[in-house]
Amino acid sequence: MKSDNPFKQHLDTVTATISLACRRFKRPLESVSLLAVSKTKPVDDIVALASLGVQNFGENYLQEALHKIETLQDLKLTWHFIGPIQSNKTQSIAHYFDWVHSVDRLKIARRLSEQRPATLPPLNICLQVNISEEPTKSGCSPHELPLLIKQVSSLPNITLRGLMAIPQATDDFEQQRIPFKMMSALLNQAQQDGYPLDTLSMGMSSDIEAAIAEGATIVRVGTALFGARNYPPNK
Ligand SMILES: *Cc1c(COP(=O)(O)O)cnc(C)c1O
Repeated sequence: MKSDNPFKQHLDTVTATISLACRRFKRPLESVSLLAVSKTKPVDDIVALASLGVQNFGENYLQEALHKIETLQDLKLTWHFIGPIQSNKTQSIAHYFDWVHSVDRLKIARRLSEQRPATLPPLNICLQVNISEEPTKSGCSPHELPLLIKQVSSLPNITLRGLMAIPQATDDFEQQRIPFKMMSALLNQAQQDGYPLDTLSMGMSSDIEAAIAEGATIVRVGTALFGARNYPPNK
C-alpha cells in the first residue's frame, strides 16, 4: 500500500522545502529538479522512492552503483554519477550513467567521450568547481574553469550541461549563499562567452534553500530523503 511507504513523509518534506524556496526566491517550480542521492542505501529504498515518482538517482561509489543500475534496469531510472572519478572508472561510467556531475579535469572528460557507446545519447556532464578552494576537495579551481569549459565543450560524445559544487559546510543561511552566488556568476560568465549551459548542480540536505536562492537547477539530496548514512562517515 502506498500509504505504508516509509519515504513518503521525507519526500513530502523535501518537496515542500523546494517549492517554498522557489516561491520565496521567485523561481519557477519546474526550474529546480530533485536528484535523490542513494549512495550506501539499499535497492529497496530506491524502489520505494521511485514508486513515489522520483526518477533521478545519484551514486558516488561505482561498484555499488553498477549493482543497483543492473538490478533496477526495468524501472528506467536516470542515473547520475556524483563521486570522485579515477581514470580506471570512466569506462563503466560512460556505459551505465546518464549524467556525470563530478568531472574536474580534461583527461577524465576525454576518456568519458571516447568510451561513451555510439548507441547511447551523449553523456551529460557537469564540471565540478572547488568553489571554496579547499585543498583536500575535488573540483577545478574557479580560474581554471574557462579553459576547461572550452576544451570539454569540443568533445564529441558528451554534452557539457553546466557546473557542480560542494561548498564548505556552514549552518548560516547567508554564509551558505556566498559560494552558491559565485557559482551562479561562473555559469553566467560561461553563458555570456557563448556556451549553452543550463545546469547548476548545487544544494544538499542542509542547504537546499540557499542553493535555490542563488539559481540551483538540480539539488542533490541524500539524508533528508533516505535518512542518515551509516557508512562511510562524511561522504
Ligand atoms: C552525499 C552527497 C550528497 C547528498 O548529501 P546529503 O547531505 O546527504 O543530502 C550530495 N552531493 C554529493 C556530491 C554527495 O556526495
